[in-house]
Amino acid sequence: MRHPNAAAGLSAPPETAHMQAMPDTAAKRPVGRALLRGFVGRCPDCGRGKMFYRYLKVCDACEACGHDLDQYPSDDGPAYFTILIVGHLVVAPLLVLSFIWRASLWVVVPGTVIPLAIITLLALPRIKGAVVGLLYAFRITRDDGFLHTADSAE
Ligand SMILES: [Zn+2]
Repeated sequence: MRHPNAAAGLSAPPETAHMQAMPDTAAKRPVGRALLRGFVGRCPDCGRGKMFYRYLKVCDACEACGHDLDQYPSDDGPAYFTILIVGHLVVAPLLVLSFIWRASLWVVVPGTVIPLAIITLLALPRIKGAVVGLLYAFRITRDDGFLHTADSAE
């Protein structure tokens, strides 16, 4: 095929035949899209299939596109981010707003523990989905476990 540069009277760029076609693994995986799909509990690859078959159990494979969802090791990540976020939402006001502590413990304890439990239970699957979406976008699978320095000490 004639290079378009030739038609414009310019020299053609060097041959690139030595470069291999991009393999399927190089297909684009936009981070924001994968994160959002995971956040709403959908497969990060197609956005249609469900990510979880139970509360926090990730499906082995996407029911819509067959993508292997079990290969992404979210491990303690979702719990860590949930504690980080919920801690700031519920615990930080207790530290800053001292008038709360002038109320009866019969008000403060349930008023803290109940929202803490509800927000945590609502946040966990969404944050876990987002973490799996991130792992998908960055192509981090269980096969990358050797990268954990703590594991290699065994
Ligand atoms: Zn899918």
